[in-house]
Amino acid sequence: MIAIVRPNATEDQLDHFISWIEQKGLTAHVSKGEDSTIVGLIGDTSRVDPFLIESMDIIERVQRVSEPFKQANRKFHPEDTVVDCGHGVKVGGGHFAVIAGPCSVEGENLMAIGRRVKAAGATMLRGGAYKPRTSPYAYQGMGEEGLDLLCEAREELDMPIVTEIMDPRDIDLFLDRKIDVMQIGARNSQNFTLLREVGKTQVPILLKRGISGTVDELLMAAEYIMSEGNPNVMLCERGIRSYETRTRNTFDVSAIAVLHHLTHLPVIADPSHAAGYTRYVPQMAMAGTAAGADGLEIEVHNAPAEAWSDGAQALTPDIFDEAMEKIMGIRSIVAPEVA
Ligand code: PEP
Ligand code: MN
Repeated sequence: MIAIVRPNATEDQLDHFISWIEQKGLTAHVSKGEDSTIVGLIGDTSRVDPFLIESMDIIERVQRVSEPFKQANRKFHPEDTVVDCGHGVKVGGGHFAVIAGPCSVEGENLMAIGRRVKAAGATMLRGGAYKPRTSPYAYQGMGEEGLDLLCEAREELDMPIVTEIMDPRDIDLFLDRKIDVMQIGARNSQNFTLLREVGKTQVPILLKRGISGTVDELLMAAEYIMSEGNPNVMLCERGIRSYETRTRNTFDVSAIAVLHHLTHLPVIADPSHAAGYTRYVPQMAMAGTAAGADGLEIEVHNAPAEAWSDGAQALTPDIFDEAMEKIMGIRSIVAPEVA
């Protein structure tokens, strides 16, 4: 349930209203926008009478929110959320981010790739130190050593780092190193224990859509994180499993528009895992940008044929340079006022 507050309500009246809600055993979630203030009521709202709330002086109107996602819902928070990833990089609400780097952290080449993607206009560096692989015999990532390499690259390049966390037991390793963005991968999109644990931090989370996950399941996964107190969630469309086999996954470009309608959280498009083949990635990156994504996540490798994972979908730095020109051209049309 949301209560829309009258523009002339005073802070005292608002505080009084919030205490009243809390006395009913509910949580009040206040969203102050430029035009209006909205109070979201979270919990068992069957205990409150919407007509009683509507009769209060400071309330303009009450609306039931039927969707099960509340804090992620645009009705609770009409304005776009802007996630601050550090190093001056913001995502959402007109801020466009490009996250680029290798699938896996492999060693010294991380720095060389980082320099190239930064020069091409990427704003964040990615690289997996813990890799979710279909086979237990496949390369599983460098672990802590990989995190350290990312931190070194962050220092030299002055850009935030994005890396996947797979296990709640690793959270302290990520916090100790002040990892800027923790990625929850597609395979862990409904790992509710992990979602709750990262929700107890304030670290920005890049939450990927499950391999066969619906938009609503993605939003409920975000709700798990937010319900623990972390509002810094970015959603990621990375392709879903379909009957098509010519691409690794099927890029659901419509999900970007649908998510922007349903939620205030930033939406990132990952054309690399969606397409699965280098040759299609630039076009899918442009499509995601044209659909209004708040950013992209793109895998880039200096020698894709030698990559330890996902070489088939990696762009070389030269291809990334060329793709970035086109992406930024499209972005300037989609959002001319902020370009
Ligand atoms: C990745 O980003 O390298 C990755 C494993 O992505 P996803 O979880 O989308 O498959
Ligand atoms: Mn990958």
